[in-house]
Amino acid sequence: TLPKPRQPELKTSLPGPKTAAIMERDSQHLSTSYMRPYPFVPDHGEGVWLTDVDGNTMLDFFAGIAVSTTGHAHPHVVKAVQEQITKFTHVCLTDYPQEITTSLAERMVKHVEKPGEKWRVFFGNSGAEAVEAAVKLARNHTGRSHIISTIGSFHGRTYGAITLTGSKTKYKRGFGPLLPNVSHVPYPNPFRPPLGATAETCGQAVIDHIEGLFQTIIPADEVAAIIIEPMQGEGGYIVPPADFLPKLRALCDRHGIMLIFDEVQAGMGRSGKMYSFQHFDGVQPDIITVAKGIASGMPISAMLAKESVMTWPVGSHGSTYGGNPVAAAAAHATLDLLEGVVKHPGCGDSLMHNAAQVGEFIMTELKAMQAEFPFLGDVRGAGMFIGLEFVKPDGSPDGKLRDAASMAMFERGLLNLDCGEAVIRISPPLILTREEAATGLEIMRDALRALK
Ligand code: PMP
Repeated sequence: TLPKPRQPELKTSLPGPKTAAIMERDSQHLSTSYMRPYPFVPDHGEGVWLTDVDGNTMLDFFAGIAVSTTGHAHPHVVKAVQEQITKFTHVCLTDYPQEITTSLAERMVKHVEKPGEKWRVFFGNSGAEAVEAAVKLARNHTGRSHIISTIGSFHGRTYGAITLTGSKTKYKRGFGPLLPNVSHVPYPNPFRPPLGATAETCGQAVIDHIEGLFQTIIPADEVAAIIIEPMQGEGGYIVPPADFLPKLRALCDRHGIMLIFDEVQAGMGRSGKMYSFQHFDGVQPDIITVAKGIASGMPISAMLAKESVMTWPVGSHGSTYGGNPVAAAAAHATLDLLEGVVKHPGCGDSLMHNAAQVGEFIMTELKAMQAEFPFLGDVRGAGMFIGLEFVKPDGSPDGKLRDAASMAMFERGLLNLDCGEAVIRISPPLILTREEAATGLEIMRDALRALK
């Protein structure tokens, strides 16, 4: 059991002079594609707190986009990284096995394997790389080429991944031609049901829509895979209706299609279970992609597949840095905390357990806030994967109000991040305690009152 991190005072006189100076240099020398929505330049972190170069300490409710699972500079993660880096930093996993990645794979498959069903792991460095690997594997295994993705999805920014990504056009404009043979179907969003359906019927409506495409436009026997986020992240932190994923699994089985679950954002304990698809009874994909929360911020990703599916030939796919041992050490330490092999003080049995418990507390509190703030149209999610959607009086999405709310929260000391058209995502480190959550909720309430 580790010592409880100290809780500093929130100070929010932003932006300070050092922040402004670094932001100016940043604007001169870094890629013009980077967004800079908030004036914040981190200096150091501890637990759920981040302090900037001017000494302002902020409460972190976004965890570097659902990455910093164990918070900042977790002593157990730091120790694991330090120990591995003094042994060796790199050899190359494509050519030589290394025990630390072998044992990581053994550990990861335990969370998906069922009796009589073995899984294997391919390691990469980023979410997009895991997605590329999944698509290549599905095509190679099935001998088919077509991939179906969803509207509102985000799968990364490499060529294959941006083709699959079904959200903002800025990711695609001017970058084509993209990957051929990719189609997009609606995502069953119960708050804004597609295809003229209702919250209850939108899952079935999307299934019927795909079957309709198979009769008219896309021959089902040319479809290699359907890729979907079991809970949609960048698109707005959306949870599909309970019947949808089991029906999608059955559809894939009917047509010999690989089902890929992109768990890059919602996976690794964030939803209160190891994988977000595990909230849906009996559903098992053929391929899973994970990244973000896997190693507390060290760059590593994984593509897991059933052994019966991972049939690509020796040497056909690889990555020089993929499965880097230092990142793998951080992944082991992260799993120790997620599984509860190592206990984090104040977080119950495990971080996964804490994500479920404290996440439920946050969700209940936010739902209660809807009475005071009618513009909070929807509160949804699971565990510490929570979306807060802002609406106009007519119920349409209010992106402007969301932006104002996000900035008001930031100015009061809460690091947060938008997603979708009008959503603030709440994706804090999974070590967040109930008290820290209450502090964040108080900041949110105060910020929302200032908007009225
Ligand atoms: N898939 C999902 C579901 C994601 O949310 C993201 C990143 N937001 C990616 C893939 C791409 O990950 P990366 O940025 O590490 O390439």
